[in-house]
Amino acid sequence: MISRRPQGTAEVQLPRTISVSAATTAMQCGWRHYLRYVLREPEPSKGGALITGIVIDRLAKLVVASVQVGDLKVGDIDTAPMFDEVWQAEEEGCPVPIHWGKKGRDASRDTALGVFEAFCALPDLEERISTIVAADLRFEMPLRDPVYDVIVPGITVVGVLDFVQRQDDGRIRMLDVKTAASRANWSGDLSQDLQAAIYQVALRDQYGPDAVAPSAAWWIGLKLKKAEWIDREAEIPESSERRAQLLLRHVVQAVAHGAARHPQPNLFCGGCPWRDTRCRDWQDREESRVPVDIFAADTLEIAESQI
Ligand code: SF4
Repeated sequence: MISRRPQGTAEVQLPRTISVSAATTAMQCGWRHYLRYVLREPEPSKGGALITGIVIDRLAKLVVASVQVGDLKVGDIDTAPMFDEVWQAEEEGCPVPIHWGKKGRDASRDTALGVFEAFCALPDLEERISTIVAADLRFEMPLRDPVYDVIVPGITVVGVLDFVQRQDDGRIRMLDVKTAASRANWSGDLSQDLQAAIYQVALRDQYGPDAVAPSAAWWIGLKLKKAEWIDREAEIPESSERRAQLLLRHVVQAVAHGAARHPQPNLFCGGCPWRDTRCRDWQDREESRVPVDIFAADTLEIAESQI
């Protein structure tokens, strides 16, 4: 009898950390999470939208930091050379091929430049920058199980906040920079946003409960023909924090129990970089075949242990 096991799924060290992006990946596809966060395989390629997002994120932080230390003046930013430098570094530093999609590399680059120019042209940019009190704030905190109100042993929640923003009442909150192809995904209720809820818990963990407002904000660069920036903010209630912590707890549990160790290619795989290299035909590969002795008393156990 032959059982089938995807390559590289022998004994592995489970991750001791969980992040919002790891949990989100696990919810989208358990196998993709397994490849990236458990086996730690580098992705075979990167999407162009991801590169654009990283470039805009880096540029926004560069502008904020440079204005705050006085190296740059709002209204006097030479956008093209600044953009060129960051774009080139990101493109040339990418260790895997970049898939630019139908739009292509040059049009994607022009769009990204437009988004950056629109950012620098925001009429209240100076005022916005004056509200930022920290950038790229890294955190590590224990994972709390909100049902039993206990710390989950051996797991640390990690992440990086784009910005920490001070409100008029003196309290701080998360501010995240995003890029989006349309405003549609940002038109709904954001009070249950996983990232916002976890980052709020992390801020409270670092700064204390009274210092943090139950609120989150986003600056969103829209990659439209004529780029523009929109603002979103939301109240993040305590119930949302508990829900987010429980979700991370479930992901940790699912991973520990070996859930989703088989690829299940489906309609929603979209542009996943592992589709052709890892998933599409894994059952047919010679190295996936594992002989199992059907007369062995623990055959079922053996087969189970191999998935
Ligand atoms: S191709 Fe599909 S099944 Fe495979 S890792 Fe990507 S999303 Fe998951």
